[in-house]
Amino acid sequence: MSDLGTELFRRAQQVLPGGVSRNILLRDPHPRYVKSARGCRVIDIDGFECIDFANNMASLIHGHSHPAIVAAVAAQLQQGTAFTMATEAEIAFAEHLCSRSTGFDKVRFMNSGTEAVMAGLKAARAFTGRPRIAKVEGTYHGAYDYAEVSQAPNPETWGARQRPASVPLARGTPEPVLQDVVVLPFNDPEAAVAILDEHREEIACVMLDPIPHRVGMVPAKADFIQALRDWTQANGALLMFDEVITFRTEVGGMQDRFAAQPDLTSMGKIIGGGFPVGALGGCDEVMAVFNPRSGPLLPHSGTFSANPITMTAGRVAMELYDSESVARLNRLGGLARRRIEEAISVSDVPASVTGAGSLFRIHMKAEAPRDYRSAFMNAEEKKVHSRFNDAVHEAGVMLTYSAAGILSTPMGEEEIDRLSEAVLNGFREVRDLL
Ligand code: PMP
Repeated sequence: MSDLGTELFRRAQQVLPGGVSRNILLRDPHPRYVKSARGCRVIDIDGFECIDFANNMASLIHGHSHPAIVAAVAAQLQQGTAFTMATEAEIAFAEHLCSRSTGFDKVRFMNSGTEAVMAGLKAARAFTGRPRIAKVEGTYHGAYDYAEVSQAPNPETWGARQRPASVPLARGTPEPVLQDVVVLPFNDPEAAVAILDEHREEIACVMLDPIPHRVGMVPAKADFIQALRDWTQANGALLMFDEVITFRTEVGGMQDRFAAQPDLTSMGKIIGGGFPVGALGGCDEVMAVFNPRSGPLLPHSGTFSANPITMTAGRVAMELYDSESVARLNRLGGLARRRIEEAISVSDVPASVTGAGSLFRIHMKAEAPRDYRSAFMNAEEKKVHSRFNDAVHEAGVMLTYSAAGILSTPMGEEEIDRLSEAVLNGFREVRDLL
């Protein structure tokens, strides 16, 4: 890569640990530094242009610099960006989000998915008066201590398949945090219920991402969700869906596809229209824990929560992402997955693709993963994976570090053609290593 990037990375390492503020941006020999972006195309400071299938880790539903969002935010900027006063912008956006799902009587805004998950878990504790939460092994839910447990276990630490251990992510995680997080195997209703039964009186919340990215981007099965819904209902616990990524799959989120409905939903990413955001949606009864006039059971604040820049960008972005737009992008996602499957069979590599809606993930594994353990890559597999990802990138297509792809509305069949060419190129590059 160029001198410009090398020089920026040299400066970055003087003032940022590891030279970055987000570890996932690291590449060899240095991160790419962006110059500008429009629609689904990004260009870096060295003039390298690519089609953006990473979309800031699934947070840009309309790609970059959508004219309607830019205009609305520019108008709001003239009026101020944050106040010690409430705004109409937050009411209008809350009205819009509540109109997208019958499960949302009320929403509470914050500034990240991490905060939305944290608020949801604390709301469940406040509502039930119980300490423990349950989550699926290998899932990413942001940086709250409790949500981080068993986010990245390995074969040495993860324990028995049907009884996963509570594994810390960060050194220094307090032992009581681990004890208060019950870890469930993915898509295994019997094993999950058996584990939950041991903590009947203590579980405040079972948290589930319906298409957990790090668990292989494999959709949750309806019978798994139903078992968790039945168990929580029978045992006085709440069910929370973390739809920070998956909200894009249907107008009201992935939960639209299931009969079993959650009590709480954490959201983030696309609902910010390109700005930092988090939101928690839920029924009146549970969301009342936030109501300062009735207690509150859960005092909750945030200096920049519901700031009018995010609220305006988010509302405009989500109004544009209507049922027609959702359906079109999901169809395009289906086409992308089919084209990747074709590339796999043409190049005859042991690879597979998972995903749903406008999301996909490519695995250097002949059999598509079913859960975190089967998606887990050993050191050798990681090397092949990263060679593949680099080759796709060099061909002008940016996937995420995990070879996941996320579509945006400016894309069409032309971009899917470019994707399948780049992916084919990547498979050919690694064929001899497999
Ligand atoms: N939950 C899920 C499912 C996520 O994918 C993420 C972010 N990748 C988060 C929570 C945390 O969101 P944020 O990065 O905005 O804190």
